[in-house]
Amino acid sequence: MATDALCFRGTVLPDGDVRAVYVVEGRVTYEPVADATVVADDVWLLPGLVDAHCHVGLGKQGAVDEQEQERQATADRDAGALTLRDCGVPADTRWIDGRSDLPQLLRHGRHIASPKRHTRDIGVEVEPSGLVAAVETEIARGDGWVKLVGDWIHREKGDLAPLWPLPELTAAITRAHELGARVTAHCFGEEALPDLLAAGIDCIEHGTGMLADSIAVMAERRVAVVPTLINIARFPQIAEMGAKYPAYADHMRALHRTVHERVRAAYEAGVPIYAGTDAGSEVLHGRIADEAQALHAVGMSAHDALAATSWGARSWLGVSPGLDEGSEASFVAYSADPHDLAVLRHPTHVVLRGHVFRP
Ligand SMILES: [Zn+2]
Repeated sequence: MATDALCFRGTVLPDGDVRAVYVVEGRVTYEPVADATVVADDVWLLPGLVDAHCHVGLGKQGAVDEQEQERQATADRDAGALTLRDCGVPADTRWIDGRSDLPQLLRHGRHIASPKRHTRDIGVEVEPSGLVAAVETEIARGDGWVKLVGDWIHREKGDLAPLWPLPELTAAITRAHELGARVTAHCFGEEALPDLLAAGIDCIEHGTGMLADSIAVMAERRVAVVPTLINIARFPQIAEMGAKYPAYADHMRALHRTVHERVRAAYEAGVPIYAGTDAGSEVLHGRIADEAQALHAVGMSAHDALAATSWGARSWLGVSPGLDEGSEASFVAYSADPHDLAVLRHPTHVVLRGHVFRP
């Protein structure tokens, strides 16, 4: 009897074992299936990539419609990014959950900011006294995460400054943890980090302000950072746009100059680091390979950069980390060893929930 079973033969990462991987009814099995269709031979297989910081549903002008959301999610899928940690959008993207051909989304609800302290119309804006209630609301809209804006330009001060006092921050993060959610924060500067860490935050987005003291706390408590290096590369342009605030513009340029040494110091100290592109604003979707290469360029080993983009990030997010017997068949095939990170740009096959795509 003919089956719809598929077979991929090659080197299965991260272990490096040469195996025949069968896909039966959307699941991985190593039990040989006699009449399986051999899709690829002598390939390298990576557990589905993760874009640990992107925004499906967000464009340069704010929320985008479903057609554009589909285009964004498809671009990520075709780059091999099969789990997207969606770090805050003003659009409803729940319909994507019903599409087996589009990546898994782990949503953060909307960004939570204080009035006039974020890009207009992107997040919800509340006074610090309303932070706990806003966190409760956004957790209900998300998938186990909530996102705060930790710092932003303060126009009277003319520089980056924290948004939240420590007591409100602590109450909000404590409440999120009671509800079983994790909390992350957008953070560019140095000043906001100590309070975010003292309040018990789980992750920092961007993290360009990481100094030795913050890095030590993050390493000890396993607070992750998603540096979004390919977006940090735009800091000189952001400084240009903010030129009427000279201290802010200088600060952004300084953060850009020091980002490599700071992320490298975090890596060497053992801070968990994951690959995120920040796609959905100025950065286009589908660029996860560029971020993996950028992490390597900062000093991460190729193996650790792959882990940060695949099995390590999956494990951190509670997604099955490897191609284990019975796990969902969501993986990416390459014609060469992706430890040469340039190989990540050209997957030969993307397999999502057992469906095969040829990018
Ligand atoms: Zn972002």
